[in-house]
Amino acid sequence: MITEHYLDNSATTRPSEAAKQALIEAADVWGNPSSVHRAGLEAAALLVESRSKVAKSLGLQRFSQDKIIFTSCGTESNNIAMLGCARSKNRNRDNPGTVIVSAGEHPSIENPALLLEKEGYNLVRIPTARGVLDLGYLKNALEDAKEKKSPVIFAAFMLVNNETGALYDVKSASSIVKKFFPDATVHCDAVQGYMKVKFTPASLGADTLTVSAHKIHSFRGAAALFISAETIKRKNIVPVMPGGGQEFGFRSGTENLCSIASFAAAAEDGRLHFDENSAKVAELRAYLDERLAPLDVKINLPEGARINNICNFLLPDIKSETMLNFLSGKGVYVSAGSACSAYSKKKSGALEAFGVDPNNADCAIRVSLSYVNTRDDVDALAEGLGEGIATLQRKR
Ligand code: PLP
Repeated sequence: MITEHYLDNSATTRPSEAAKQALIEAADVWGNPSSVHRAGLEAAALLVESRSKVAKSLGLQRFSQDKIIFTSCGTESNNIAMLGCARSKNRNRDNPGTVIVSAGEHPSIENPALLLEKEGYNLVRIPTARGVLDLGYLKNALEDAKEKKSPVIFAAFMLVNNETGALYDVKSASSIVKKFFPDATVHCDAVQGYMKVKFTPASLGADTLTVSAHKIHSFRGAAALFISAETIKRKNIVPVMPGGGQEFGFRSGTENLCSIASFAAAAEDGRLHFDENSAKVAELRAYLDERLAPLDVKINLPEGARINNICNFLLPDIKSETMLNFLSGKGVYVSAGSACSAYSKKKSGALEAFGVDPNNADCAIRVSLSYVNTRDDVDALAEGLGEGIATLQRKR
């Protein structure tokens, strides 16, 4: 048996012991949280406790009127925010307005935005060349929207790009949007920034914000959407899936308590060990950079802020897929761009937005670290890459 080296933590993470334990314990709490008998009340109590742990991990105050909505995945949270905003009664059907997204957003933002564009919304993408959100372009776009009398209803800025690791200045972008359009909903997809950088929705100026459990060493099947009290008061978001009214009416459907409880355990674990986990990843990233330096690869390093976990680089004219298979044969698991785009024949929008030549985008490899990785994993990657570059280039 070969030793496995999992370096694809932006795709998903290995569930932690805390997450596994919480999942097992929650399996015995099988009642419906909406039922009023003992089994239901027990489930409701676990749901309340889980919500409070996730809220705490986002730095929310105990008595805040803001809401944490549990959903099934980050994709669902992003869709509820964007489509729920577009469906709000506050919209003028004759002049629906403008939707802003940063260029290279995850498909769970980009694709609902395209849907809204088809419905008549004016869609504007803010460039993110070299991993920096272009705030000057944003200002011009907002002036343009004002001039055209096409109010911005929704603006989405991801916190960290899932392919390049670029960390965007969401706070400044939000302030600029609010200056022009105070009623706009500013959304932040914080899926890749959660437990990597310290933030609260308020520190980012986010009215709505998405985080997902399986990226922080818990299981798939749970995620959260933060919705600010102000957004709820202004009725800026309506439910997109009518039903029994669970999750404060924003996400009907009986809650997936096992995944939610394990999500909460991972969130608490991540919050308590944030500094030590971050230090481990920083040390590991420095080692990765050191091991990549002698190799014939070109790192797509963001010019501005970035997280340490994600490292994206171009191979010397070897297709990502070829190298992935080669590395996989050696038990080294990384990815080509984002895992979610594996189903799409389209080239990576994020890398193109970053400024990577579209002809080279299919030579990109994404390595994503976690605090559970070791130098051995990095050594196996570097050795595999070195060997791969030598042999696969020769075969071309
Ligand atoms: N947003 C970003 C930035 C992501 O990287 C991902 C998943 O990779 C998602 C959203 C979607 O999250 P989920 O897999 O929970 O639907």
